[in-house]
Amino acid sequence: QSVGINSLMENTLSKVEVQRSSKNQQINYHPDSKLPTITGDWDKLQQVFINIISNSIKYTDPEGNIKINVDTTVNGILITIEDNGIGIPQNDLPRIFERFYRVDKARSRQMGGTGLGLAISKQIVEGHGGNISVQSKEGVGTKFKITLPIESDSKRGNRSE
Ligand code: ATP
Ligand code: MG
Repeated sequence: QSVGINSLMENTLSKVEVQRSSKNQQINYHPDSKLPTITGDWDKLQQVFINIISNSIKYTDPEGNIKINVDTTVNGILITIEDNGIGIPQNDLPRIFERFYRVDKARSRQMGGTGLGLAISKQIVEGHGGNISVQSKEGVGTKFKITLPIESDSKRGNRSE
């Protein structure tokens, strides 16, 4: 499946619009004007971006800002999703992609969720031959970086399913 990142992102933003507007946050999306399409599964990639952007909305106070950038790299695309929310303590950072891992049970419980969103996202991104990483500072914000190859290895993608 050939996936246009611009339309994927526009469509994803419409899906999180109710959640975003309920917190009166801003999402700035700056697509690269000449983005290549990537080979992949539209629905699964959309699930990744819904997970990450929903997290940013959920773990950022009302009126907060979320910045989404898409750039081309040597062999693929780089998508960054950055918020100015509550952040993730350094001690928890290595574990947030684990199944059911949630930072600070008390803080997370009131937000709702199962702790699966990032584990699933990582699995999908890696299944597409890409990579996902995070940088965060408590009380400052969180930045997720996702790379996806322009031509993903379909065999590798199938094996992860
Ligand atoms: P769900 O399964 O509904 O997605 P969840 O959001 O708790 O539940 P993950 O999406 O896997 O689970 O995220 C794991 C944990 O990482 C969260 O519980 C939260 O503590 C932390 N986290 C993820 N994204 C952010 C973010 N943008 N800012 C701050 N903390 C975050
Ligand atoms: Mg989540």
